[in-house]
Amino acid sequence: MTSLTAGIGDKYELVVGLEVHAQLSTLSKVFSSDSAAFGAGPNEHISAISLGHPGTLPKLNKRAVEYAVKMGLACNCTINLRNTFARKNYFYADLPKGYQITQDHQPICLGGSVLVRLADHTKNIAIHHIHLEEDAGKSMHDQHHADSLIDLNRAGVPLIEIVTEPDMRSSEEAVQFLTEIRKLVRYLDVCDGNMEEGSLRCDANISVRLKGQTTYGNRCEVKNLNSIRNVHRAIEHEFERQVNIIENGGHIDQNTLNFNADTGETSVLRSKEMANDYRYFPEPDLTPLALNQEYINRVLSTMPVLPNALYDKYTTALGLSDYDAGVITADKDFALYFEELIAATDNYKAAANWLMGPIKSHLNDSGTPISDFKLKPGTLAGLIKLVDSGKVNNTVASHKLFPELIKNSHKTAAELAAELNLLISADTNDVSRFIQDAIAKYPDKVVEYQKGKKGVLGLFMGEIMKSSKGKIDPQKTNQLLIKELEAR
Ligand code: ADP
Ligand code: MG
Repeated sequence: MTSLTAGIGDKYELVVGLEVHAQLSTLSKVFSSDSAAFGAGPNEHISAISLGHPGTLPKLNKRAVEYAVKMGLACNCTINLRNTFARKNYFYADLPKGYQITQDHQPICLGGSVLVRLADHTKNIAIHHIHLEEDAGKSMHDQHHADSLIDLNRAGVPLIEIVTEPDMRSSEEAVQFLTEIRKLVRYLDVCDGNMEEGSLRCDANISVRLKGQTTYGNRCEVKNLNSIRNVHRAIEHEFERQVNIIENGGHIDQNTLNFNADTGETSVLRSKEMANDYRYFPEPDLTPLALNQEYINRVLSTMPVLPNALYDKYTTALGLSDYDAGVITADKDFALYFEELIAATDNYKAAANWLMGPIKSHLNDSGTPISDFKLKPGTLAGLIKLVDSGKVNNTVASHKLFPELIKNSHKTAAELAAELNLLISADTNDVSRFIQDAIAKYPDKVVEYQKGKKGVLGLFMGEIMKSSKGKIDPQKTNQLLIKELEAR
C-alpha cells in the first residue's frame, strides 16, 4: 500500500461506527444450564440445547439480562421494557441449530452515549442500541491434516453487542471508545474485557467523505478485530485505501473485510452482492422479555461507581490533574485501592504520587497485580503522615522505608521507621554539626556562594544528606544552611 501523497488525506474526513461484542461472564450459557466457563476440553460444555436437537427449548438466563441492563445503564441507554428475541438464520458448521438467537427490532437497550477523553477534546459517542445474543461454536481448521474440528463449548455463551452511531472521526476516537467500553465492562464485572482471548471483539465500519460533505460515503466493515492496536491499524489502513481509490476516480464497494495482522492490510471476505439475507423472524420459543422500572432500579442499586464519576471527583473535589485522574481510573482495582487510600489520608496529591510512582513501579517490577499488593492502604496512609509531619524525609520514605514496609507489611510505618532508625533527629545541634562539617569540607564553594552562585546549595545539601543518612528535615536544614552561609 502506498501511503497518501502529502496533504491529500486532509481533504477527507474519516467516519467510523463500531460494533463491539462482549462475552458476558455468567456461569452458565444464555439459554441453557451448560457451563459458560472458558478453557474446558473440546465439547465438554454442551447439551441437547446447545447442540440444537429438535424439541429442546431455550430458557433465558436471568443473570445475562441483568448484565446487559447494567451495561445499558452505564452507557446511558434507555432500557427497553419490552424486548424480544429473533432468529437470525444462516448455515455454518459451528451453528448446529441453523440459526442464532439474537435481538432485532426490539433490543434490550436503546440509544445512549459514552464519553471519551482525548488529548485535546472530549466527545460523547452515541450508541444506537445494545442487544443480547448467543455466541456460535468454534471451527478449527489447523488442528488436523485433513478435517476441520468443531468445538461447541462456546455455542450459546451470552454476548451483548454494542452498536454505535457512525460518530467517530479518527482512529484515536475509536481506540478511546473501545478502551472506555473495556473499562466499563470491567468496572461492572460483566465481562473480563480480554480481547486476546476473544471475550471482547470489535467490527469496525469505515467510510470516508470529502470534508464538508453532509452525506456518508459507502462503508466497509472490517470483521473480528482482536486487539485495540489492530482496530487502530485497520482504520488507518482503510482510510488510506479508500482515499486512494476515490482520488484515482474509483468507487468504494460496500464490502465485508478481513484484517491481516501480519501485513496490516485488509482483504475482501464477502462482497455486497453476496450479502447474507438472514431472514430474521421472531423467536417462537421465547416470550417477549418484560422488565419494569422497579427491576431497573434494583439493578441500578447494585452498580459500582463508574470511572467517569471517579474521574470527576478526582479532578474537582480532590484537585488532582486530568493526567492523575486518568491513570488512577484506568484500572478498577487501582481505583479501588486509591478510594481506600483517600479514606485514610487527606493528602490526596501525595496519595496519587505514591500510587503512580513507587507502588506502580514495584507492581510492574514484581509482576504483582494491585489486588495482591501486600501493603494495606491504611499502612501507606501512615507513611504519608510520617512524611507530612516531618518525621521522615521523602527520599528516605520512598527508597528505604517503603521497600522495608513491603517486606514487613504487618508493621506500621512509624514502628518500622523507629526500628530502622530512619526518623529525622529533632536535635538542632546535630543538624548544625552536619552543616558545619559540610561547610568546612568545601571552603571554595562557600566563596562561590557568596559571589552569587546559589547553585552550590545543592552540593552542600547532598553532602549533609549523605552524612546524616537522610535523617534530617530537608526544608528546615536548607533554611539553616542559607542562614549559616549568609552569616559568613
Ligand atoms: P447493518 O445493520 O447492516 O449492520 P447498520 O446501519 O446497523 O448496518 O450499521 C452498522 C454499523 O455501521 C453501525 O455501527 C453504524 O454506526 C456503522 N455505519 C453505518 N453507516 C456507516 C458509514 N457510512 N460509515 C461508517 N460507519 C457506518
Ligand atoms: Mg452489522
